[in-house]
Amino acid sequence: MTEQTGYTGRFAPSPTGPLHFGSLVSAVGSYLCARSAGGRWLVRMEDLDLPRVVPGAADAILATLEAFGMEWDGEVLYQSARLASYAAALPLLKGELYPCGCSRSDIARQGADSGNHAIYPGTCREGLPPGKTARSLRLSTYGRSISFRDLVQGRQRQDLEREVGDFVVRRADGLFAYQLAVVVDDAAQGITEVVRGSDLLDSTPRQILLQRLLGFPTPRYAHLPVATNRQGQKLSKQTHAAPLDNGRPLPALWRALRFLGQAPPRELLDGDLESFWRWAIANWRISSVPRALARPESCAIM
Ligand code: GLU
Repeated sequence: MTEQTGYTGRFAPSPTGPLHFGSLVSAVGSYLCARSAGGRWLVRMEDLDLPRVVPGAADAILATLEAFGMEWDGEVLYQSARLASYAAALPLLKGELYPCGCSRSDIARQGADSGNHAIYPGTCREGLPPGKTARSLRLSTYGRSISFRDLVQGRQRQDLEREVGDFVVRRADGLFAYQLAVVVDDAAQGITEVVRGSDLLDSTPRQILLQRLLGFPTPRYAHLPVATNRQGQKLSKQTHAAPLDNGRPLPALWRALRFLGQAPPRELLDGDLESFWRWAIANWRISSVPRALARPESCAIM
């Protein structure tokens, strides 16, 4: 193993089902970035959204990582055990937060549509309108825009107020929002580089804003292309992506490398996991990862 550096990366699956090829791509990309830099690689279970958590999925994900020869450092962090830390962040955001009484359908009715979600029009920013009661807690994006350079996707800029709108940090059901939890945990775990699917590229400016308001450092970001099926849909539980086979790790790992623009020799398929990872770590080039938001899974077929 290479000498340890200050690099700390992570893989942060939501335990809503078993790993599939799409999540493997994020796991492999983040693992190789960390290991090729001589860094640490942590695993965090994002089991905060309890209604979506599937019992047994977290253990199944860890078993697959083990079967695929991906060793993580330290203990796995479970977000469900971190509620006090998320709650402690709220007072630090005081002055930027306000209670919102709007329901999803209120917002769909009033908000401009950004394509995949309605943009909150700021209805409760100046105080709850008469007749409304506080449901969620939102962060004001008034006049804020964020720029950053993504290691794969290049320069990014988002006008948060216009493109996202004031966003929820504590939901109407009392759960802390993904955006807040991720920022608190990335800081607590000392994450220096976030490598994940490009479906989260759009969330990154919100996370950078939160880091700045909370006084946390901003890690570097690399957003990998997401794998799609033949219909162009992101592989997910909803699109019935097939679970990975723990008994046959090499073909899936080899395809994940190809998907990420690397050029693994075919002989790796006849070897063992150890030689696969030795080759993959020594030859990993993030500059070869295609600068695309999505790619069909079939582009990596042997
Ligand atoms: N838990 C998120 C997911 O599975 C990933 C969060 C992240 O990497 O920041 O989509």
